[in-house]
Amino acid sequence: MTDVAKTNLLGLTQPEMESFFESIGEKRFRAGQVMKWIHHFGVEDFDAMSNLGKALREKLSACAEIRGPEVVSQDISADGTRKWVVRVASGSCVETVYIPQGGRGTLCVSSQAGCALDCSFCSTGKQGFNSDLTAAEIIGQVWIANKSFGTVPAKIDRAITNVVMMGMGEPLLNFDNVVPAMQIMMDDLGYGISKRKVTLSTSGVVPMIDKLATVTDVSLALSLHAPNDELRNQLVPLNKKYPLDVLLASCRRYIEGLGEKRFLTVEYTLLKDVNDQPEHAAQMIALLKDFPCKINLIPFNPFPFSGYERPSNNAIRRFQDLLHKAGFNVTVRTTRGDDIDAACGQLVGQVQDRTRRSERYIAVRQLGSEAEEPRTANRN
Ligand code: SAH
Ligand code: SF4
Repeated sequence: MTDVAKTNLLGLTQPEMESFFESIGEKRFRAGQVMKWIHHFGVEDFDAMSNLGKALREKLSACAEIRGPEVVSQDISADGTRKWVVRVASGSCVETVYIPQGGRGTLCVSSQAGCALDCSFCSTGKQGFNSDLTAAEIIGQVWIANKSFGTVPAKIDRAITNVVMMGMGEPLLNFDNVVPAMQIMMDDLGYGISKRKVTLSTSGVVPMIDKLATVTDVSLALSLHAPNDELRNQLVPLNKKYPLDVLLASCRRYIEGLGEKRFLTVEYTLLKDVNDQPEHAAQMIALLKDFPCKINLIPFNPFPFSGYERPSNNAIRRFQDLLHKAGFNVTVRTTRGDDIDAACGQLVGQVQDRTRRSERYIAVRQLGSEAEEPRTANRN
């Protein structure tokens, strides 16, 4: 029998693991034992699972495996941020970032190799799309990061307190793999992270936001980036399909379904002279009036030939103050780990693009300084 036929147990949720054990003629409670070995202790060798009998260990070795994505590199930044580049089955590489801050440790996880959505200021988007990650490749990033802090059980050590699906890719376009991976993050047999501390970030795939509400209650972040449709159509092309009124209505349904004290995180990447002007703040205040939300401003993280610039600190503060005075809870995301290219929008991995978009982008880059011109101000 070849390895290919083996079931990878890493990406199985508890019910799936129970079904697996049943299918091989074993008791369902074995699922819990094996999940603890995998996720709490980072074990990948069945022989190390000392509470399983020898016969069962041999049976598992023959028909199953615990296989995470291959770690290509691990970097640790001066500020404690860690970044992994991992290779997935399609051959592409994706990135995972760990950001310690105060008592929290946030892991930023990728869901796809590349992204099909082509937001104009995002380096992942510029690389085109290669593949969806499997559930094992998604939870595998948590597994790898957790193991890097030692073999203490995740629940005791708690190096990773929060997970955000804000790495490469659009998680709602890989729904069937992202949802089980998030279930394992929240399961006590997995990483025991509370539903409030697992956040899915989307650029606004409306039907999938509604579908998400039927299967989970994780926190939701919306990548807004523009307070009107005309500008958002330029920055987030998906807006042409799901415009702001439709999008915000679906986010409201989702948040209301979560119950009390839950809110939408609104992400807004600030682009100099494009969406950072006082009129944009005024439009945003009107748009989000009465919406249970917290606003997270992300100063643009530059990458070569993006055509955009980061606003000055004064412009960032001015934008924040305007929203703050209108009663919004507004934070500015500090840039972390930029010495290892781990900041938002700098995640590039190494995507084997199937859309040929990256070829077009490289062609634009070759035009040289012309392409370096910052975009003209858009005062919608
Ligand atoms: N596809 C999802 C999640 C991944 S992107 C989404 O778009 O929400 C995670 C966040 O980083 C998004 O809010 C995205 O807009 C932002 N981002 C992308 N490129 C950026 C850049 N160059 N600088 C700052 N933020 C960026
Ligand atoms: Fe894709 Fe998100 Fe980047 Fe847009 S911002 S291209 S949706 S990863």
